[in-house]
Order: sequence, then C-alpha cells, then structure tokens
Amino acid sequence: MENKLSLYNTLTRKVEQFIPNEDGKVAMYTCGPTVYHFAHIGNLRSYIMEDLLEKTLRYIGYDVKRVMNITDVGHLSSDADTGEDKMLKGARREHKTVMEIADFYTKAFFNDCDKLNIKKPDVVEPATNCVPEFIHMIETLIEKGYAYENGGNIYFDTAKLKAYYVLSGQSEKELLVGVREDVDEDANKKNKSDFVLWFTKSKFDAQELKWDSPWGVGYPGWHIECSCISMKHLGEYMDIHCGGVDNIFPHHTNEIAQSEAYLGHKWCNYWFHVHHLNDKSGKISKSKGDFLTISLLESKGYDPTVYRLFCLQSHYRKPLEFSYEVLDNMSVAYDKLIKKIGTLDKSGAIDQKKFDLYKEQFEAALCDDLNSSMAVTILYDLLKDEMSDATKYALAESFDKVLSLNLTTAHATRKADNTIDTELEQYVIAKIEERKAAKKEKDFAKADAIRSELLEKGIVLEDTREGVKWKKA
Ligand code: AMP
Ligand code: ZN
Repeated sequence: MENKLSLYNTLTRKVEQFIPNEDGKVAMYTCGPTVYHFAHIGNLRSYIMEDLLEKTLRYIGYDVKRVMNITDVGHLSSDADTGEDKMLKGARREHKTVMEIADFYTKAFFNDCDKLNIKKPDVVEPATNCVPEFIHMIETLIEKGYAYENGGNIYFDTAKLKAYYVLSGQSEKELLVGVREDVDEDANKKNKSDFVLWFTKSKFDAQELKWDSPWGVGYPGWHIECSCISMKHLGEYMDIHCGGVDNIFPHHTNEIAQSEAYLGHKWCNYWFHVHHLNDKSGKISKSKGDFLTISLLESKGYDPTVYRLFCLQSHYRKPLEFSYEVLDNMSVAYDKLIKKIGTLDKSGAIDQKKFDLYKEQFEAALCDDLNSSMAVTILYDLLKDEMSDATKYALAESFDKVLSLNLTTAHATRKADNTIDTELEQYVIAKIEERKAAKKEKDFAKADAIRSELLEKGIVLEDTREGVKWKKA
C-alpha cells in the first residue's frame, strides 16, 4: 500500500516517511503506566496522542497490532535504578499489598482511558506476568558478554556497545547532567551508564515481590520489561515504539541497548515521543502531592472529551501548558461544535466529491507528522462550507474514528441527560412539597420516610432557613 505518513523519528531526529517492515502492517509498542497511583493528565496527554497515532494508522489503511505493558514491578523512584520501587511506595501509602495497588490503579487507568476515548491496545501485559522471559533475556545477555554480575545484581555493560546514546543523540556528559537529582552512585557498576537488569541486592530490601532466578531471589529492572514484552508479542522487529519524552533517556536508550545486544540486529525503526504537559510551575508529575487527574477535572464540571480536544489542538512535539482558562475556552468551543453537528439533518444525499475532498485534506493533515490541530480546523472549515447537512454529518462521523470526540453522539447524550435531570427535578420538588405537608400535619414518620426514600435515590435534603434544599449525594 501507499506509505503516505510522515513522522518525526527521535532516532534520526528528522521527519521521515513512515515505511513499516511488512507492507500494510504496523507493529507498535507503547510504554504503559506505572500503576502505583492515578494517571495524571500529563500521562494521559501521551496516551491520547499515541491513540491518535494508532487511529491515524488504521484510518489510512494499516493493520495495526499495538502492545502495552503495565509496570507493576521494578520502576524505581529514579529512572536511573536508584531509590525505592514506586509500587512499594504506593502500597505503603495505602496500607495495601503491591498486587492490590496494581490491580486498583490498572483499572483506574483504563477507566480514565475510556472517558477519553483512548482505545485499549490489542495486547496489555503486566510485567509480573513475564518473569521467565526476563530471566531468559538476561541469561542470553550474560552468555553474549553484554551483562555481568556484581554485588548480587546483574548489570548491562554499556562499554560493550559501539554506540550507547543512539537515541538521544546527546553527549554522555549532557545526559548525565540531565539524570535526576536523587541518583546515588552505585559502586557495583563498571561504567556510570550501566544499568540493572536483575536486582538481588538493593538498599531497599523490603521488596514485596521477588522471584527465584539463576542469580538468587530478586526482581527485574524496569527497562528489561519493555524489551521482553514487546518481543513476546511483536517478534524481533518493531515499527514504532512510543512514550513520553522523559522515556528517551535512560529508559528507551537502555531498551535499545539490551534488545539489539540480545537480537544482534536493529530492533525498532521509528521512535515516537510526546512532549510534556506542564503547569505554570513546570512538568506535571505524580510526586507533586495533589496532582491533576481526569476525575478532578470532572468534579469541576469538565467533560473529559474537552481535555482530549485541548490536547488535539496542540502538536505532540511541543510542550503544552495546562490552564483552566484555556480549558474553559475549549469547553465553550466544544459545546458549540457538538451542538452544530447535533442539529445537522443527516437524512439527505451525500455529496461524494466534497466528502472525498475533505477526507483527503483531513488525512493529509494527520499524515503531516500528525498535525492534529489542522485536522480539527478542517472539521470547522467543512461545517462552514456550502454542502448538504448529510455530507457534513458523514464527514464528522468519519473524522471521529480518529479524533474520538463523540462528535455525532454527544449532542443526543447531553439532551437525554438534560431530560433525565428535568424529570428528576420535578419528582424531587413534588416529594419536598409532600414532606412539607406531612410536617405541617405533624406526621413526622411520613416526613422521615420521604427523606429516606429520596436518599435511596441518591438525593440529599437539607433543611435551611431559606427552605428545603436538595443535592445529588
Ligand atoms: P509513568 O506512569 O510514570 O510510567 O508514565 C506513563 C507515561 O506518561 C510515560 O510514557 C511518560 O513518558 C508519560 N509522561 C509522564 N509525565 C508526563 C507529562 N507531564 N506529560 C506528558 N507525558 C508524561
Ligand atoms: Zn517502557
């Protein structure tokens, strides 16, 4: 098939024509969440843009297989193998076991994804499912002379590679400065840039999950999981590997080092990285106390789809600053958009020429290194153009396969919600009147029964000086 997509490749630091290994098929891998806490809206920016990439590939005709890991072991509080396992921290915070924490936050993550219309990858694999695969890869790396044992841990020997910093393209010095502050020197490493493949000894011995291995009871390092899980499901050659920009170093750099040392050939051709969502004080992160989640936005009255639109309006290779002012503007724009589409009369004839023209423009925008804001602009343009409502509606429906903004369904859902709300309001008001009358007649048992009846339906009554008020529980 025709390869019309251009994509920025972190490996070559250029926008390139995307050509998969196998014609018409794409093997795609995404670094999944570390499930020790809720995902923040920064994490979700990465997953929205990766979802957009997957859906664009499918829209233009590729058969995509996408795999995602769930990090439920081995991701230490510094990406450079020091500090405590994040999962353990989460378990201690909530007085639960690591597996309970993993289960809860994995579900919470996919729940957030559902709200944002992020499609679940074809394969989702928790790291704790794949320990035998990790052990096998580490054994092979030792056999091939790329890994060594020291002080109880197994390390990857980066000095054995012709080039280690292939992905980031920066000098060793620059990268070492970029490494997080809480990095302790590990005296067992032969080279500063070596990284742990398997831990049996660490400063934090309280590790809850441990497995037997040829090197003693221990647990895997974080980087090995993505190499193994992707190969398990996608084989030895991969087309696109995705993640946020903070994954470039050390995580993805280490993935390439160990995967290519293990395979003996090039592993992944295209590296897709999403830039960070920041707030005024800098990068949004989970360690920053009260962090922004989709539930928090919902509790403030925002439709999650509005956050998706906010992300789509900006290019994935630019840092994006979050602010409620911009989100408010986006909310107004979204309401107008779905109202406009919702009131289109879809029963007429479709103008095929116009349909093809706009579809072509839409694809061209997406194929231009995923220019999502241009894709949204094309939607606005066509809604203003002279053509039948049915054509506009069909185009919106088609574009939504990629944009996933509920373009043709949101209007009806909101109308239905409003109807439900009006019916509920009338019912509650009638019940309040009935209760008032009961009280007047000193029938307090009946008044209490009415209060309980409403409570069962999720309505709380409050007697105030200004009269009875009610709210949803
Ligand atoms: P984690 O759960 O920390 O493993 O991160 C999950 C994904 O979110 C990774 O791909 C990260 O690179 C990405 N990520 C982390 N912080 C941000 C941020 N502030 N903006 C966008 N993506 C992020
Ligand atoms: Zn990964």
